[in-house]
Amino acid sequence: MGSHQKPSTAGKPIRCKAAVCRVAGAPLVMEEVTVAPPQAHEARIRIVCTSLCQSDVTFWKLKDFPGITPRILGHEAIGIVESVGAEVTELTEGDTVIPVFLPDCGECSDCLSKKSNLCSKLPFKVSPWMPRDGTSRFTDLDGNTIHHFLSVSSFSEYTVVDIAHLTKIDLDGDVQMNRACLLSCGISTGVGAAWRTADVEEGTTVVIFGLGSIGLAVAEGARIRGAARIIGIDMKPEKFDVGQLEDFRVQMVALSCLECIELQVINEMTEGGADYCFECVGLPSLMEEAYACCRKGWGKTIVLGVARPMSEMKLECFEVLHSGKILTGSLFGGLKPKSDIPMLLKRYMDRDLELDKFVTHELDFKEINTAFDLLIEGKSLRCVMWMDR
Ligand SMILES: [Zn+2]
Ligand SMILES: [Zn+2]
Repeated sequence: MGSHQKPSTAGKPIRCKAAVCRVAGAPLVMEEVTVAPPQAHEARIRIVCTSLCQSDVTFWKLKDFPGITPRILGHEAIGIVESVGAEVTELTEGDTVIPVFLPDCGECSDCLSKKSNLCSKLPFKVSPWMPRDGTSRFTDLDGNTIHHFLSVSSFSEYTVVDIAHLTKIDLDGDVQMNRACLLSCGISTGVGAAWRTADVEEGTTVVIFGLGSIGLAVAEGARIRGAARIIGIDMKPEKFDVGQLEDFRVQMVALSCLECIELQVINEMTEGGADYCFECVGLPSLMEEAYACCRKGWGKTIVLGVARPMSEMKLECFEVLHSGKILTGSLFGGLKPKSDIPMLLKRYMDRDLELDKFVTHELDFKEINTAFDLLIEGKSLRCVMWMDR
């Protein structure tokens, strides 16, 4: 299309700003980095907006592997293709893309199956490298390697992403970048878990453990499906304003600690157990409670929370045998990025799916450490950062 005003950067390294995690748990350092050109099956992306997700905070704090430094975190974003590497036919310069941590190769038997979103050609792993050749595209100004994060690394003005992790979207009309970027991780995960993994039906009862963005996105998905009752369980009632929870149709059960859930209370509220329970925190004890709270015979418990590596949950074998309940995990809400993100975007454009109410803050990229503070203090749901302001 048309002539370029600027000389093409394709095939050349790009120097740009990035927020680098130099020390686990310490403020990110805004510095100049070099982003190498994309290799085969890769695209280099100019990030337009990125938002902060809980997993960024989890890995930022992690001192031991899979935590690693220096690293460019960030995995919820939207951007424009700057250039593509060899063998890339599905994308071209100027395309708008949403990167996703979960690969969708479109070729393997799992990607071709309707039953799974877990690619076996490029299996999902928390790796500090590019997925195909195990190297990095980032270096600092001293020439030292900087690591990737979840195959995205969006806390950089430019990043390189494998095409299996990129979904092209059509920006017809006025899709706002600061809304569409939410479909890159948290909101898709919550809504997808309600629609695809649980398949919530009209008139049912849903209990959500943990009312962060993912928990509230589950509530949004359940609301659209016509759930009769959405009960939210959390222990920090002061962080919610009641009007906001009403927007999500969530009835709050506030606890003084997450370990003190009264099964009896939930049982009475749900008249014998919820149809669907969602664990959105990542605590083994809460996963056990969620399983205990869902209805015998058909209740489904969906685990969305990311627990500490190697942690285990306990289930009584007799209970499993006698209760006939379903327990399952769900990555990216069971959605296939390349087909389901455009579907979610259309639902948003049709004013069916709500994204606006998740964006509580917008900041400039240079204020990224403030975005971390807001999320850690429980003051934000989604804080969207603009790269070029
Ligand atoms: Zn695949
Ligand atoms: Zn995320």
